[in-house]
Amino acid sequence: MNIEAKGLSKIYGEGESRIIALNRVSLKIGQGDFVSVTGPSGSGKSTLLHMLSGLDSPTSGQIFYDGKDIYGLTDRELSAFRRRRIGFVFQQFNLLPVLTAGENILMPLLLDKKKPDEDYLEELSGLLGIGDRLNHLPHELSGGQQQRVAIARALIAKPDIVFADEPTGNLDSKNGREVMEMLQTVREKMGKTLIVITHDPGIAGMADRQLSIVDGILSEVAG
Ligand code: ADP
Ligand code: MG
Repeated sequence: MNIEAKGLSKIYGEGESRIIALNRVSLKIGQGDFVSVTGPSGSGKSTLLHMLSGLDSPTSGQIFYDGKDIYGLTDRELSAFRRRRIGFVFQQFNLLPVLTAGENILMPLLLDKKKPDEDYLEELSGLLGIGDRLNHLPHELSGGQQQRVAIARALIAKPDIVFADEPTGNLDSKNGREVMEMLQTVREKMGKTLIVITHDPGIAGMADRQLSIVDGILSEVAG
């Protein structure tokens, strides 16, 4: 799917505490693109991701997926759209501690009342190198393995797009690099669009296209 944002702004609070978290951001992202977003803490990176992915609505501006304005959808349509077309990976892996890795990965399908796809689970976990860890609980896995489980969970519903908000922020550099290599593999082998927020210039440099955001204003990094 093609994503197009037009004049996105997000303002939090009023009066003294008014904050312009996003300031008239426009951008286009094509299917299969790998885009990184860097910027200082508080610059609006997560806000941008929330707007683009339909998690929270902008104060003004629009977001189109293949020409369709997602904030023109009803709440129910929008959440179905997110469940089916978008995968999320977060800094905190957000795995449910009482479920095994395999159960965590299948969770989005269960929430969508879809049958677990065991073959696809096997393919994904093989690709991500966690095939022999599916019966383990999250606390029995390393941070890098937990994040790979979270990536498999983000992919199980076969979304077109994966948004990752500082996916390596809780990992040491070796595991961080490994997780990024996995995400790249997923993108290359499966043709997913990948939008990654990161503090790490090395990771940002892996993307085809680098964006930077400062005080809510987005710019393209030349290169
Ligand atoms: P980043 O992810 O780049 O660290 P954020 O997008 O989380 O930055 O935040 C951008 C700005 O918006 C910050 O000043 C932050 O304090 C503010 N902000 C984010 N979310 C909220 C919210 N729910 N309510 C009020 N202010 C918020
Ligand atoms: Mg953030």
